[in-house]
Amino acid sequence: MNKKELEYFRNLLQEELDALLVKAGIVVGELIGTAYTNESDPLDRATEEQARNNQLRIRDRESRLIGKIRKSLQAIDEGTYGICEACEEPIDIARLKARPVTSYCITCKTKQEAFERVIGS
Ligand SMILES: [Zn+2]
Repeated sequence: MNKKELEYFRNLLQEELDALLVKAGIVVGELIGTAYTNESDPLDRATEEQARNNQLRIRDRESRLIGKIRKSLQAIDEGTYGICEACEEPIDIARLKARPVTSYCITCKTKQEAFERVIGS
């Protein structure tokens, strides 16, 4: 991958990271807000609890994505970005454009998913 391509992915990842961090900040603010709502009846509290759990689940997924983006940005700095972690072959640019945080080439990813399906069943 050339320097221009690396810069393209760095910007792409950085923008996504910034957007996620802003969103995560808003979600945390909402969580703090709902934690201090006064005595509502039990049904309302249950609904609130449900909403809070949903938010936490979203946040968990986002924090995993934030971790992946940071790892990708680090890989750009280290010069290992776009290299498959399993077979160490370059990952297809089109695949990276569709999913910049990927760390496996399509062949290894397909193998891995097939393996996970076997383990999961
Ligand atoms: Zn591979």
